[in-house]
Amino acid sequence: MRKKVNQHQLEGWINHVQSFTHLGKVPDYIPALAKQNPENIAISIVHLNGECIKAGNLEHTFTLQSISKVISLALALMDQGEDYVFSKVGMEPTGDPFHSIAKLETSNPSKPLNPMINAGALAVTNMVEGSTPDQKVGRLLSFVHELAGDNSITYDEEVASSEFKTSFLNRSLSFFMKQTGVVEGSVEELLDTYTKQCAIDVNIQQLARIGAVFANEGKDLETGRQIIPQHYARICKTFMVTCGMYDASGSFAIRVGIPAKSGVSGAIMGAHKDLGGIAVFGPALDEKGNSVVGMHLLEMLANREDLFIF
Ligand code: GLU
Repeated sequence: MRKKVNQHQLEGWINHVQSFTHLGKVPDYIPALAKQNPENIAISIVHLNGECIKAGNLEHTFTLQSISKVISLALALMDQGEDYVFSKVGMEPTGDPFHSIAKLETSNPSKPLNPMINAGALAVTNMVEGSTPDQKVGRLLSFVHELAGDNSITYDEEVASSEFKTSFLNRSLSFFMKQTGVVEGSVEELLDTYTKQCAIDVNIQQLARIGAVFANEGKDLETGRQIIPQHYARICKTFMVTCGMYDASGSFAIRVGIPAKSGVSGAIMGAHKDLGGIAVFGPALDEKGNSVVGMHLLEMLANREDLFIF
């Protein structure tokens, strides 16, 4: 049964979480993200009929970071097919931090455990069709335009180059996977593509709209056109449930119970089959890397509207 939330409720929830904006920490391992103001918070819901409601700082834009991993996974599945993608990347949660290198060496066969950790996401980005980083980034952006219904979206060059220069761990993961045959081609080109993909810059409404396409089984909200095959949209949502919230995915499933993907910029995208797309934003992160404000907002939403999918 379809569910709806109203504008007034969103405004009330945003007021409620104002007092949490300074709990947690803005990440500093990507220098450009360290400058974010923790008081810029927002929420938006795009219902399945296309109607959008939003509250908070609506002008502010932020980068997708790890949320882009869901989008690149959908595109790689469409480009290469399921068998190929999962011959290189596994389907299991790790219980480790998102950038951990540990299981790459110990897992057998040697492949990243899932597409939501950095190693798996790098392998997935490597599979996106295109012979140059520009072509791959161009295809990722066009895909985001389709999902968001907005051709103006681009990537933030400052955030991309700030991450590119400091991606020592992601380079190490990529070189390791090149040695084991999971990654092909130039590691520098892969990092170039991946950092631009993570730096795709959106506002809260655009993010909720992307979530709504996943919620709507891959179909465009207005035209009903299948942008992502239903089966692939389901694969993406399943990974959002099992590994979308870093190593807090288990407790999140219990406390919130909505398929969701988090990014270190402080954004979280949710996709709920009866409600639609959900986007929350607040730059200060908890110790697991999830937005403190975003987690409070989603917990309130799930509990008050009884959105638990399980
Ligand atoms: N670009 C970030 C990284 O690879 C994304 C991490 C995240 O949002 O979890 O470190």
